[in-house]
Amino acid sequence: ELSQRMSERAVDVIKYLMKEGQMMKPGDVIDADLAELIATEFGHTVKRVSESDVEEGIFNVVDDDSALTSRAPVVTIMGHVDHGKTSLLDAIRHANVVSGEAGGITQHIGAYQVEQNGQKITFIDTPGHAAFTAMRARGAQATDIAILVVAADDSVMPQTIESINHAKAAGVPIIVAINKIDKPSADVQKVRTQLLQHEVFVETMGGDVLEVEVSAKNGTNLDKLLEAILLQAEVLDLKANVDRTAEGTVIEAQLDRGRGSVATVLVQNGTLRPGQIVVAGDQWGRVRALVNDQGDHVKEALPSMPVEILGLSGAPHAGDKFAVVENEARAREISEYRQRLARDKAAARQSGSRGSLEQMMSQLQATGLKEFPLLIKGDVHGSIEAIQGALDKLGTDEVRARIVHAGVGAITESDISLAEASDAAIIGFNVRANVQARQAAARSGIEIRYYNIIYDLVEDVKAAMSGLLSPER
Ligand code: GDP
Repeated sequence: ELSQRMSERAVDVIKYLMKEGQMMKPGDVIDADLAELIATEFGHTVKRVSESDVEEGIFNVVDDDSALTSRAPVVTIMGHVDHGKTSLLDAIRHANVVSGEAGGITQHIGAYQVEQNGQKITFIDTPGHAAFTAMRARGAQATDIAILVVAADDSVMPQTIESINHAKAAGVPIIVAINKIDKPSADVQKVRTQLLQHEVFVETMGGDVLEVEVSAKNGTNLDKLLEAILLQAEVLDLKANVDRTAEGTVIEAQLDRGRGSVATVLVQNGTLRPGQIVVAGDQWGRVRALVNDQGDHVKEALPSMPVEILGLSGAPHAGDKFAVVENEARAREISEYRQRLARDKAAARQSGSRGSLEQMMSQLQATGLKEFPLLIKGDVHGSIEAIQGALDKLGTDEVRARIVHAGVGAITESDISLAEASDAAIIGFNVRANVQARQAAARSGIEIRYYNIIYDLVEDVKAAMSGLLSPER
């Protein structure tokens, strides 16, 4: 890599290293200092940049105000299960789809656009706050407006409240859609007063949150809902610059047998075109084709438009950022940087968590293993026996504790290495770890938990087994 960048032959670099007493072969990793030494030795000028500079000028580029034009709002539908999120998404889509063929094929690519009064609105096709927040956790803010669906016959329910909190945490304005008003048991007033208790003040209650009474089933007032969205969008004054290279967020992605990597992205700024080179998460590739929500190949994707990108090297994750870059070398550099970041993170997680009860359980769940390895040290034989008996009883068909080692006395360095080797967590009952053991545990990321009441110990293991254990006690 280094010789390539210097336009030197790899063999010359290896020879130089040999002369310096370093036996290396192509592909071996060298550190920055050595790389600088070599580059200087070969007559190149070195400019040190920090790793994160790799992405400079590509993501979150700020545009001049004068370059901006308005863009369509991007909407996510949230609400309690069975309150009609999917029905509403389908009803809006069917009523407003710009259909070429009658009864045209609806292509589900993860997001779609409709038109109301000549203005476009983009809907994210995965309803609910889980997907919304998962994307946010990856740093993506794809949604401009949240539609909170509340069924008038069921009113405010736990996931309604969660949705409100998730939208508020993201700073995304809410529009309330009171659904199922066709039902005889519908009580819209109850919905309004209950929303009040959760600090959503709708217009008819003197607040400024837009609200629309709808029936997804009968298609009632869908146009009013779309108008409310456009009104809210106007307030938000959403803008983008079409005259620049595109960037945005991955909505979903998969590897398709026939088509290879298929990634649906939401263009958030700029214009995306076939032939351009794109980095998405830690994947990259030249855009072979762009496919819109109608299944048509398109020549460009403008801001707020969802499109499928064909031609990436692999499938990025929902919530990953994508951007167009100037050439393949840059794309490779960024994707390698991101892969390295991901690897480092995974490694840190691994070493930081190895042996911790809750991490172990999630690992077990992931691998489908059925044993929960533990290493137990106690003050007397009697207590260890009692603990073993209690843990035995906890076992189910799915998962049971496997006691790797149980013994009397303080926790020692050798306990740590055993725990490390067998991926076990360590439990100390009325005993402590000695200094060396504590240091070794910190080094290898092994968790030691101390107890002096058997009941507490058993409860914690039980909680870990059901994935409910709080991080630290
Ligand atoms: P989701 O879980 O929020 O996505 O809810 P769904 O869209 O799956 O709807 C749950 C149930 O409510 C389904 O049986 C729908 O047919 C029904 N439903 C949805 N909207 C309406 C409506 O406006 N009126 C009536 N009567 N039923 C509805």
